[in-house]
Amino acid sequence: MNLLVRTAAAGVLGLAIMTSAHANASTESRDPHSYAQPDKVRVTALDLDLTVSFDKHVLSGSAVLDLEWLDPAARELVLDTSGLKIERVEDMSGKPKYPPLEFQLDKPDPMLGSALRIKMPRQAKRVVIAYSTSPDAAGLQWLDPSQTAGKKHPFVYSQSESIAGRSWIPLQDTPQVRFSYTAHVTTPKALRAVMSANNDAKHALDGDFRFAMPQKIPSYLLALAIGDIAVKEIGPRSAVYAEPETVAAAAKEFDDIEKMIVTTEKLYGPYRWDRYDILVLPPSFPFGGMENPRLTFATPTIIAGDKSLVSVIAHELAHSWSGNLVTNAAWKHVWLNEGFTTYVQGRIVEAVYGKQQADEEFLVAANELKKEFATAKPAEQLLVPDLTGKDADDSLSDVPYTKGSWFLQYLEGKFGHDTFDAFLRGYFDHFAFQSITTDQFVDYLKANLLDKTPGKVSMDEVNAWLHQPGIPADAPLPSSSAFAAQDELREQFVAGKIDAAKLDAKSWRTQEWQYFLDRLPPKLSPAQMKALDDAYHLTGTHNAEIAFRWYRLAIGSGYEAAYPAMREHMLRIGRRILVVPLYSELAKTPKGKALAEKIYAEAKPGYHPMTRAAVEKALQEPGRRR
Ligand SMILES: [Zn+2]
Repeated sequence: MNLLVRTAAAGVLGLAIMTSAHANASTESRDPHSYAQPDKVRVTALDLDLTVSFDKHVLSGSAVLDLEWLDPAARELVLDTSGLKIERVEDMSGKPKYPPLEFQLDKPDPMLGSALRIKMPRQAKRVVIAYSTSPDAAGLQWLDPSQTAGKKHPFVYSQSESIAGRSWIPLQDTPQVRFSYTAHVTTPKALRAVMSANNDAKHALDGDFRFAMPQKIPSYLLALAIGDIAVKEIGPRSAVYAEPETVAAAAKEFDDIEKMIVTTEKLYGPYRWDRYDILVLPPSFPFGGMENPRLTFATPTIIAGDKSLVSVIAHELAHSWSGNLVTNAAWKHVWLNEGFTTYVQGRIVEAVYGKQQADEEFLVAANELKKEFATAKPAEQLLVPDLTGKDADDSLSDVPYTKGSWFLQYLEGKFGHDTFDAFLRGYFDHFAFQSITTDQFVDYLKANLLDKTPGKVSMDEVNAWLHQPGIPADAPLPSSSAFAAQDELREQFVAGKIDAAKLDAKSWRTQEWQYFLDRLPPKLSPAQMKALDDAYHLTGTHNAEIAFRWYRLAIGSGYEAAYPAMREHMLRIGRRILVVPLYSELAKTPKGKALAEKIYAEAKPGYHPMTRAAVEKALQEPGRRR
């Protein structure tokens, strides 16, 4: 995923810790965010048959699971579910047919959902589960026609990471387990269904879609979207899928995709997923992007018109190696997905858009992290956090992204580009289509990099990055002459020594604006705000990253002239990182909080359940960092 919002020091909600055994070098102990028992039995393939009801906001049908039994004594299959209505479970291996299998749904845990326990008088090789989803499934967002760009047809899309896949499919919902899948999806005619699988751009809109994903994936990469979706090819193996109103702009913005794929292949070996397509969702999509294999899901807020925000696409593409190919075995190891991906993203941006842009994007992120670390608790600064009793999504702060990629930049600096590139390529090959832990990475790092060139980086230094708070003092930081020049101008502007017009910001790139706005004091004078706005028309800007930062500053400065446009931004966009901090900032004063609550009441029906949850936390705890 891309740039998530820090979710919570969520209250401990009665999580049953299934095991406290530590992972050893080759196997992970059970995932505390799943009831599954993959040490006893594993799902190896899934065949879905689902019918969508836009009236009821429900998917219904069946999931057929192929099972590989590892423990001869096991007589139970435990699956993860959340809000699913289970109608029937059958063993499909019997001829004549066996009687239906007995099952029970445990009392739901607020975070983990309900374990589905299926009794197995014999170890079935294949079972079918007939079920339907709940209208408030956490992993699905249902949009009315009015919430889409076209306003004519409804839309539904999934977001399974981290553990919401269980709200639309009964599964072993842990990244430890990988499986292939096929699916049959029945939709109203005229709509298109797409999945994280082999999408056919020329498929008739006949309401009858079939998919296959032959490569084995973890459950959080299962994805489905259905709506009025048009297609435009943008490269020899890539197309953009989007609402007809958005598809042309998206295709133009993302037309460097083949260059990005070729660049990454040169560095880290072949792209192994056949097609790389992009689905642009309605603006309520809660994240920047989601790396669903073969079909990245993306927010329309990265369509700035000048390609300045397409690093989100570089990020999701990079996941085709880091994350989708080599996968974190549990959510505490999410830096293996996100830190590596953020590092690879930087390499793609550098190759396609130049070193200046890559360096500036990293500096913006590093500055943000340093700001956060100034007040964050030590436990919140760890690359490999203890998630015991915590929500799986708590792992998705910017620590695994920024600190993780910073660690890899540090290694690259110590060993040199060429050596480190060869090491990473070997790493992706070695662990391809496997789910691994931090310990497994460290063993591989030691054997294949540290020990081969002794004296460059010690295990103590590695462990400081992985297991100590803060950022090691010798962490490398790129420099940017544009940013340095801006530091000077910004100080003079803040001190009232130069006018806004003298900043000469008309030619600034998005990253320069991000840096400038991030480093201003949280409160400017009304005259300074008005001068900036008059000179650069920031209120109402179509660049969502600049808009969000400007509105945050407007709230801090009490610059109410920006509020109508800010309200429109908050109603239109549901991407968490671009709206939640505004609620948080507003909630710091009683007047602001009243406004935030008013806007939220209006915006809520259009927000994804994950965005709603984050906004509600922000309103309860004003001043949350992000
Ligand atoms: Zn990501």
